[in-house]
Amino acid sequence: MAALRPPRLDAAADEVARTAAAAPDWEALATVARSCVACPELASTRQHVVVGDVPAGGRPRLVIVGEAPGATEDETGRPFVGRSGALLDLLLAEAGLDRAQCAVLNIVKCRPPANRTPKTPEVARCSGWLRRQLDLLDAGTVVALGLSSAKWFLGPRTVLGQVRGRPHEVDGRAVWVTYHPSAAIRFGPNGAPRAALAADLAAVAGSL
Ligand code: URA
Repeated sequence: MAALRPPRLDAAADEVARTAAAAPDWEALATVARSCVACPELASTRQHVVVGDVPAGGRPRLVIVGEAPGATEDETGRPFVGRSGALLDLLLAEAGLDRAQCAVLNIVKCRPPANRTPKTPEVARCSGWLRRQLDLLDAGTVVALGLSSAKWFLGPRTVLGQVRGRPHEVDGRAVWVTYHPSAAIRFGPNGAPRAALAADLAAVAGSL
């Protein structure tokens, strides 16, 4: 069985991991995460810490993990509510999956300025929150959207095109990796990423 391979911890990452591990439930974790200042640049530029959405009551059917909040998510405090989120909701519905039954998370909870890719130390510092979230949710099936999220689960040398389309067992969970909705938007409605994302979500739905 493979183990989770997020980047190495530094002192701030260690502190987050300790704090997150001590959170007894989702609400307790959300409360402490909202005041996190482990990444000074992100903490000083964000409007909200986007902790994630969970279904009202009960274990999620599926846990979806993206990269980091964008502008709309930062404004609202909720994950995947901008353009990428609209496409995600549509493709989930086409696959017969109801977003309301899914948990929707990100590997990094604060918006990187100008939507840049999160830096390795930022991913490392935020990892404790995600690790504890996956445990609290008892996540059995996970979909990692995009390369940053795929690397979090499968390691830094991950090549998306080589590992998508089938589940990988990581810490006892079935982890699927696929394209990020933003890639599907970038390449257009007839582009390969959208078709692959739709096919992968259909395969995930079939596995549940
Ligand atoms: N992109 C992500 O990876 N996550 C969000 O929440 C929004 C856009």
